[in-house]
Amino acid sequence: MKPQVEIYDTTLRDGSQGEGINFSVADKLRIAEKLDAFGVHYIEGGWPGSNPKDIEFFAQAKKRKFKNAKLAAFGSTRKKGVPVEQDDQVRLLIEAETPVVTIFGKTSMLHVKEVLRCTPEENLAMIGDTVKFLKDHGKFVIYDAEHCFDGYKLDPEYAVATWQAAEKAGADFIVLCDTNGGCLPGEVAVITKAAVGKLNCKVGIHTHDDIGLGAANALAALDAGAVHVQGTINGFGERTGNCNLTSVIPCIALKLKKTCVPAKSLPKLKELSQFVDEIANSRHNPRQPWVGSSAFAHKGGAHVNAVQKLTASYEHIDPALVGNQRTVLISDLAGRSNIVIKAQELGFKLTNETPELKAILNRVKELENQGYEFEAAEGSLALLIGKALKHREPPFRVDAYHVSMRRDAKESICEATVKVRVKNETHQTVAEGDGPVNALDKALRRALAKFFPSLRRICLTDYKVRILPSRRTDLLKTARDANKNKLGKFYEGFTDAANSLIAKESGTAAKTRVLIESSDGKREWGTVGVSENIIEASLQALVDSMKFALLKT
Ligand SMILES: [Zn+2]
Repeated sequence: MKPQVEIYDTTLRDGSQGEGINFSVADKLRIAEKLDAFGVHYIEGGWPGSNPKDIEFFAQAKKRKFKNAKLAAFGSTRKKGVPVEQDDQVRLLIEAETPVVTIFGKTSMLHVKEVLRCTPEENLAMIGDTVKFLKDHGKFVIYDAEHCFDGYKLDPEYAVATWQAAEKAGADFIVLCDTNGGCLPGEVAVITKAAVGKLNCKVGIHTHDDIGLGAANALAALDAGAVHVQGTINGFGERTGNCNLTSVIPCIALKLKKTCVPAKSLPKLKELSQFVDEIANSRHNPRQPWVGSSAFAHKGGAHVNAVQKLTASYEHIDPALVGNQRTVLISDLAGRSNIVIKAQELGFKLTNETPELKAILNRVKELENQGYEFEAAEGSLALLIGKALKHREPPFRVDAYHVSMRRDAKESICEATVKVRVKNETHQTVAEGDGPVNALDKALRRALAKFFPSLRRICLTDYKVRILPSRRTDLLKTARDANKNKLGKFYEGFTDAANSLIAKESGTAAKTRVLIESSDGKREWGTVGVSENIIEASLQALVDSMKFALLKT
């Protein structure tokens, strides 16, 4: 059945234009697969005309099968004064070989005159020619009307003419864009209603969050007749970001009660949000609506008491509906069902009744306390579950390793030695590398190749490091602040002691989390390691990656 509202994700294109966001091709493929599994309807993979990385992404994505989502390439209308078939940027859109192509064009007379500097007629021709050319090449064409609301406010007649030029040329969707992100929901509603009235084809909405109303504006447009929403996971995007899909999706499903992504995906929303943050190497925002760790945290005594009696007293929904949990009532339930869903995705036969479930949950919690994150490290999680279910013994062990670095006048050289054990046999190899982790990776792979030739195919595609604040420091800070009133005159003494411990801890005991992404050319997986020593953390993640590859083959 067709959903009432379609979700168009542009995390990989508009989202990656956000400050501090930088996705590798491997990152993009992993996110695309995750979005597809979640059930968004379109994934905008990039702008092939703007950078070679996006061309490479589409070349790789072509080889994948997406179950739910259609892949879209993004670009613009042809240049002024150039026949569409001679426009390189448009040619690259065809060469991306995606079923969907999204192009943006100018709605605003101000932009036509001052930025594009062409006649209003030429702009209409640019829109019509490009849409028709793409339709003639068999594409599903989404037309993004840039500066749509600002343009309409300036010159409504011309704005409508630009949309109609796209419609007449065969566009499948006209998407109204609040490109500068400064419109109010009331304006968006009125103009969307006008567009729906003037057009026969379906209307979508693309908003930005410059005044904190990205999601509100998208909902206003849906109310006025739009049936397609563009946005990004966690609201990534230029300036203050795009419309946040992690807010809009649950609003559509749980507040407007309209169908969009599959109902079974909604409890995976928090996981999707954390996954994308992990891949972007950014900290998950605790205050993020719906999916943040504080979204259902109750601190005030009266609130806690009331929530214990009646959860609805201070909660707008049951947090489990979006995969979140309340943080006062320590309930195993949400954690349990998350693990069960994840384990089933990884191919394990695990249910709420499996006796090992409690042990798995305890182990995950214990490791998370130590700083591990499993959202983007499904390889490590699979090994943990496999071990608890006693499926099989680990295929190998690292008995010993050694890493050294030396530097002479010309270059620095890292060398690693790794000794592995498979059943009763051991094998030791040495390798040099560009850095300690590269040397370790090479030595480990070389040692294992003797026993498992298939591991030669595996390559390391990305390596991310995060310094974690010491857990003990956090606990000390909490204790120091919580005891302020109770301790009275002893408070200062306690504070001094706590502060000196905190100062000591923060210098030395910081832990490092390493996230490694690996690929065998067909799929990617992540593994994680945590230690106070970065080399040790890296080795853990490398070993998990190899073990996971062997688990699957
Ligand atoms: Zn945008």
